[in-house]
Formats: sequence, structure tokens, C-alpha cells
Amino acid sequence: MRVVEIFQSIDGEANRVGTLTNFIRLAGCNLRCNYCDTDYALEKTQGEEMSIEEIISKLDKDIKNVTLTGGEPLWNKENSKALLRELVNLGYNISVETNGSINLKEYIDEFHNVSFIVDYKGPSSKMEQTMDMENFNILRPIDCVKFVVGSKEDLEKMKNIYSTTKLSEGKSEIFVSPVFGDIEPKEIVEFLLENKLVDIRMQIQMHKVIWDPMMKGV
Ligand code: SF4
Repeated sequence: MRVVEIFQSIDGEANRVGTLTNFIRLAGCNLRCNYCDTDYALEKTQGEEMSIEEIISKLDKDIKNVTLTGGEPLWNKENSKALLRELVNLGYNISVETNGSINLKEYIDEFHNVSFIVDYKGPSSKMEQTMDMENFNILRPIDCVKFVVGSKEDLEKMKNIYSTTKLSEGKSEIFVSPVFGDIEPKEIVEFLLENKLVDIRMQIQMHKVIWDPMMKGV
């Protein structure tokens, strides 16, 4: 499979924020969000071809967390499942960052201890029509949803999705994260307060605060 980068850093968002992890970034994404900050991983041809054994050999085995990201790491179903199976066999704690357009039913049925961090891309992404709404009704307590918001319209949509899916039953953690530079974080806080959205947690991508927002491999 094509791998753009493998590196060790802290998880920058969602439920493992701040903890050390091995990042594996696979190449290729089925979406083209308006605000994408990983254009170096969008094409299937980017990165280099690596076997699962080669990928595993580049992990720091003293760090038991793995974060599988992209691009869209689940776009190639066979590759992603094979890699996840091997990582599970090796005992890693695995998080998968996925863009919300890939149906997760098969993954959830097979990978009971793998955590899926599922984005909801709102209207400002121009990719909202690709969101697979079944996902937001089948997530488990170990999974998370991340609303990526860049406008007031995105915030209104978040409120709507929260109240019309099983997300409001409180099984999975829910985060809201600003598109860096597109919306003032305080506007999100004010919206949460105004609408009493007590189950949704505001988060800023930590790696963009610590390092240059455009820096790769951190
Ligand atoms: S899903 Fe992620 S990687 Fe793909 S275009 Fe959107 S922001 Fe970029």
C-alpha cells in the first residue's frame, strides 16, 4: 500500500489528545474538502509503496498507540483491513481517523477494540453530501465524532445532526473543532453556550498550536 509518512508524535485531537502515538499516514483520499490541509496525501500515487512488514518495522514498539490517518485511510478496504488485523495481532491500541464518507459497519463488526474517529464535514467543506449518515447511528463508546466547522452554517448543521441521530444518546464522545483560520474559536464556545450543547466538547488541533500549522510529520 502507499504510505506518505510514519512518525511518532502526540495525538493532536479527539479522545487521545496529548498522548504519544505512532502515526501511519496512508496515501489517497476520496474527498476534496475546501479547507484540506493534507494535500500531500490526497493522491493514491503519493508516498511510497510499502508492505505491512515494512510499515510495522518503522513503528516505535515502546509506544503502544497507533493512529491510522490519511488522506482517507479506509478508502482501500482490503489494504486497511489487512493492516488493522496485523496491528491488532501485535497488541497496539489503534485509532483510525476517517472522513465520515466511508461506511463503518463492517469495520465496527470486525474490529471490536479499534477506535474510529469520524469526521462530520459540514457545508463549508463542500463535501457534506458524501457523509454516510448510517455511521452516526452505529458508533460505540470507544468511537468519537468530530464536527469540523468553518462557519455559522456548519455550527447549525452540527446542532441538527446531534439532535436527529443517535449521537444525542451520549454513547460516543463528540468533539467540535474549528477549521484553522476560518472561524474564531470563541464563536464556537458562544454557540455551545447559547444552545446548551453540554455533550459536545470544543477542541483545537493541538499540533497546530505547538508547531507551524503547515508543518508535516508532527
Ligand atoms: S477528507 Fe481529509 S484528507 Fe480528504 S480532502 Fe477532506 S480534509 Fe483533505
